[in-house]
Amino acid sequence: MKLDTKAMRHLTAEDWRVLTAVEIGSKNHEIVPTPLIESIAKLRGGASRTHKAISALAKVNLISRLKEARYDGYRLTYGGLDYLAMHTHAAQKHVYSVGNQIGVGKESDIVVVADDSGTQRVLKIHRLGRISFRTVKANRDYLRRRNQGSGSWMYLSRLAAEKEYAFMRALRDEGFAVPLPIAQSRHTIVMEFVDAFPLRQVATVPDPTALYAELIGTILRLAQHGLIHGDFNEFNILIKEEEQPEKDQDQETIKEQQPTSSTKAKAKEPETVPATAEQTEQEAEKESSNITITPVLIDFPQMVSMDHQNAEFYFDRDVACIKRFFERRFHFVSTQPGPFYRDAKKMVGKDGARRLDAAVEASGFSKKALKDLEAAIREQQAARGEEGGGGGGGDSEDEDSMGDDYDEDDEDNAQEEEDGEEESALNRRHNNKSEVAA
Ligand code: ADP
Ligand code: MG
Repeated sequence: MKLDTKAMRHLTAEDWRVLTAVEIGSKNHEIVPTPLIESIAKLRGGASRTHKAISALAKVNLISRLKEARYDGYRLTYGGLDYLAMHTHAAQKHVYSVGNQIGVGKESDIVVVADDSGTQRVLKIHRLGRISFRTVKANRDYLRRRNQGSGSWMYLSRLAAEKEYAFMRALRDEGFAVPLPIAQSRHTIVMEFVDAFPLRQVATVPDPTALYAELIGTILRLAQHGLIHGDFNEFNILIKEEEQPEKDQDQETIKEQQPTSSTKAKAKEPETVPATAEQTEQEAEKESSNITITPVLIDFPQMVSMDHQNAEFYFDRDVACIKRFFERRFHFVSTQPGPFYRDAKKMVGKDGARRLDAAVEASGFSKKALKDLEAAIREQQAARGEEGGGGGGGDSEDEDSMGDDYDEDDEDNAQEEEDGEEESALNRRHNNKSEVAA
């Protein structure tokens, strides 16, 4: 599934009304009966105008008719939900144009967009449920039994976006280095574009010890606020470099600095030996002398409270992930064991730290909703074969969105998705062409 906004500008006002009607109808119907679509849309031209809009929408796969439906009706596709969200972001002037897709994870698509002043932003489109509903029949039945039906992808993806947005805001307000959250609509988030490589693609850093300490410090600070990231790995940490202004340097040159200087970006193959040879230590030192490295944390739908029943497992897994990565990539092993959950637990709320777990959970998420989301994320992580965390998208098998009971056809996505997240992220500085879409 890929964001495809080609048909957006061809939709008429009536088409949008009917699309919205299908969305509204989906709240209570897995398949929205055609007469209900008519009565919600209330088009002037009546049934025949509605039918015309339905055909137009079905033709570009924004809604789809179920093959074996007991009655005549339609449901929204991921594409349809994408359009509705884009429409809202455009109306609110958060998104003006759409550029390259820079990441395709199992649970999301990441697209570079721009507002009307040309400022780049990131659109994260949650795609929860796409594995379960496509291949794993057992999962699909399981979800059905839990009475979410096949509409659950919409419910779960929206929930993931809402939860992620709420946490990003809370973390940002507390001064954590996370992208600035800008807007959320349905299953999507618009946020600040961080011009940085994921740690996964960084071959060398000037001071691994300092970076390690900072990352462990972040885990502990999160704990102090009652939180565990839950997927704290090299894919979800962006390494941002900033040149410290020298005394007489003007703003322009600072802005135009080349990004890869003190850290070295890795080429495609992730597990090869870091490419340090051509850079002498002296050079590295000279280059990095006025560059600061800030790890920016992303990806929050799976965050859990320090009070969660499996908190210790998640906390230890986050710590272990970082330790393992630093050992493999930078040959750095900390002299200190831990930190351990039992010690972190004592720090929760200390020094007046605001409990963000409680704050977010109190902000309108039902317990059931959070449980459903958690179960879906766990299921999805299991489906991508992730024992003990550490994964994070980038491999290539998924190419469809919602499964075999849909009429829609996604075959042309396979190729793009084969490129995966790593290569596209590496290339993104060079080809961020934007095309006007909204
Ligand atoms: P997923 O849930 O699919 O893992 P992430 O939020 O981790 O989604 O994003 C996937 C990838 O997209 C990241 O590893 C990173 O390369 C890129 N990315 C995500 N958010 C941003 C951002 N705000 N700025 C720049 N790149 C981003
Ligand atoms: Mg991620």
